[in-house]
Amino acid sequence: MRASEYFTPTLREIPSEAEIPSHQLLLKAGMVRKAAAGIYTYLPMGYRVIEKIMKIIREEMNKAGGQELLLPILQPAGIWKESGRWDVYGEEMFRLKDRHGRDFCLGPTHEEIITILVRTEVSSYKQLPLLLYQIQNKYRDEKRPRFGPIRGREFIMKDLYSFDRDEAGMKRSYEKMYQAYINVFNRCGLKYKIVEADTGAIGGNKSHEFIALADTGEAEIVYCDKCDYAANVEIAPCKPSPPKAVKNVSFNNKELVHTPGLQSIEEVSQYLKIDPEYMIKSLIYEADGEIICVLIRGDRQINEIKLKNKLGCSNLYLAEENDFSKYNIVKGYVGPLGLKDKNNIKIIADLEIPLMDYAVVGANRKDYHYVGVNPQRDIDIDEILDIRFVEEGEPCPNCSGTLHKTRGIEVGQIFQLGDKYSDALNAVFTDENGKAQKILMGCYGIGVSRTMAAAIEQNHDKDGIIWPISIAPFHVVIIPVSEKDEKMMNAAEKIYKDLNSLGIEVMLDDRDERAGVKFKDADLIGYPYRITVGKKTISDNTVDVKSRLSGEEVTVKLNEVGSYIKSLISE
Ligand code: ATP
Ligand code: MG
Repeated sequence: MRASEYFTPTLREIPSEAEIPSHQLLLKAGMVRKAAAGIYTYLPMGYRVIEKIMKIIREEMNKAGGQELLLPILQPAGIWKESGRWDVYGEEMFRLKDRHGRDFCLGPTHEEIITILVRTEVSSYKQLPLLLYQIQNKYRDEKRPRFGPIRGREFIMKDLYSFDRDEAGMKRSYEKMYQAYINVFNRCGLKYKIVEADTGAIGGNKSHEFIALADTGEAEIVYCDKCDYAANVEIAPCKPSPPKAVKNVSFNNKELVHTPGLQSIEEVSQYLKIDPEYMIKSLIYEADGEIICVLIRGDRQINEIKLKNKLGCSNLYLAEENDFSKYNIVKGYVGPLGLKDKNNIKIIADLEIPLMDYAVVGANRKDYHYVGVNPQRDIDIDEILDIRFVEEGEPCPNCSGTLHKTRGIEVGQIFQLGDKYSDALNAVFTDENGKAQKILMGCYGIGVSRTMAAAIEQNHDKDGIIWPISIAPFHVVIIPVSEKDEKMMNAAEKIYKDLNSLGIEVMLDDRDERAGVKFKDADLIGYPYRITVGKKTISDNTVDVKSRLSGEEVTVKLNEVGSYIKSLISE
C-alpha cells in the first residue's frame, strides 16, 4: 500500500469524548469513526486489524473442529418467545416490526436460532457432536455504550455453539474451546487471566471468562497468589470472618441511642466511635415483587449478582420510596429489629452477620440506632447467605493463599449450557436404542472488536499504538525522508517491491510530507517496524530499521533488508 493513496484520516487532536487510550488512539490513528453512540465504522487500517483477529479465530475454531456458517441478524420474535427470553431480555434487545406488524429483533446472541436449526436438521446420534460458529455483528442496546468498540451497541462477535449427546461430550467440547481460546488470545499477544464467571442472561451452570488485564477494564477479578484460582468478583465466594477491629466497650447492653440526622455508616461510626466492622447495613430490596431486608457488615459491600443468584430471583431492585412508607420502614434508619412484627418482611443475612457478637443497627425510628445488638440472640434471620463482594487480601477459597484484585476487559466467555435451550426449544436426537434424548449445548463468544481495543489498552505509549505483530495492520512502514530526492525514492520503491514479493505487509509512506510528520504518524499507527530511507541509503547502501516496541534502531544493508524483516516477523 502507498500512504498517498490509502484512506487513513489521522487526527492531530484527541476527540474529547474518548476517555481511554484505545478509544483515543483508534480515532486519532484513523482506524475507526463513530457513526452514533456505540456504533462504529471500521476504516481500512482498523478493518485490517479486525480481519487479522478474525483469521486467527477462524484458524483456531476450525482446528478444534468448528464449522463456520452465517446465521441471520434479523430474527423473528417467535423463537425468542418459545425459549422464554423475549420478555426476559429486556431493554438491551433491539426490537422492530415488519410491514405486517410482526415482531422481530436484531440478534443480541444466537442460541435460539441455532438451536432451532439443529432441532430441525439433526435427528440421530450419528450427526453429533457439532460445533458451529459464525463471526458477525451483534446488537445490544447497552445502557452505557462507552469506551469506543469496547462497549458498542453494534459489535463484532465470534459465537460458537456446541451440540453433544451427553454430559461427557459437552465437557469435551468445552475443554476444546477452552484450549482454542487460550490459543486465540496467545496468538493475539494479549496478557489475560481465565476466571470463573457468572452465567448472566445466557444461563447454564459453568462458565469461564477470558479477561485481558487492563486498569481501564470494567471487569474486576480476584486471583490467588498461591494456586491457580481466579474468579470474577461477581461470583467469587467469600470466607466469613468475625470483626477484627478493637471494640468500643462503652455500650454493652442493647439500647436505643439518639443519632440525630446521622444516617450513613461513616457518620454513625464517627459519632458513636464504633468501628464499621461492628455495624450492620440494612438494605431493603424488592425481589421478584417481594420486599426483603438484607443485612451486611458495615465495612462490606453487597454483591447484587450473588444475592440474585442465591435467591434464585429474576428481578432484584433496591426498594423505592413508596415501599418504605407502605411497610413503615424509616429511610436512613432501617434496621432488622421489629421489621417482622409489622409486615413479616424476610430477613436475609450475609455469612458474617452471625459471627458478630456486638452490632449497631438502625432502629427503624427517625434519628435513632440500637447499639449492643447480638445478631444471633436479637435478630430473627430467615436465611444466611454469601452475598458480599470479596476484598483484596482475603483468604483463597481453595488453598491457604491470599486473594488479590485486579481489573480487566472481558474479551471472551464460554458456557456449559446443558439442556437450557434444548429443553425450552425441544431439541432432541434419537440414540442407538431409538430413544429420544435432549441435546446438550455449550456456547462460546469472543468480542472481536473489543479484542482489538483490548490489545491497544495493553500495548501503547504516549506516541501511539504498539501493535503485536500478529494483529498489526501492516508489518512495516518505509519512510523516505525526502520524496523530492529521486534516488531516495527509487531506493524506497525497490525495497517496497522486494518486501511485497516476500509476502511482507508493507506501507510505503510516499506522501508529500515532512519526515517528522511521517515518523509521528508511524508511531501513532503503530507499525511494528519502520524502515528509514535517507542519505545513508544513497551514500553507503544501508537503511535504518527501528522496532516500535523496543525503540531499537539498527543499520541494515539494502540488499539484506527483506530477509532481515522476514526473520523479525517470523520470530
Ligand atoms: P459484558 O459483561 O461486558 O456486557 P457479556 O458478558 O454480556 O459482556 P457475552 O454475552 O459473554 O458478553 O458476549 C461474548 C463476548 O462478546 C464478550 O466476552 C465480549 O468480548 C463481547 N461483547 C459483549 N458485549 C459487547 C459490547 N457491548 N461491545 C463489544 N463487545 C461486546
Ligand atoms: Mg460475558
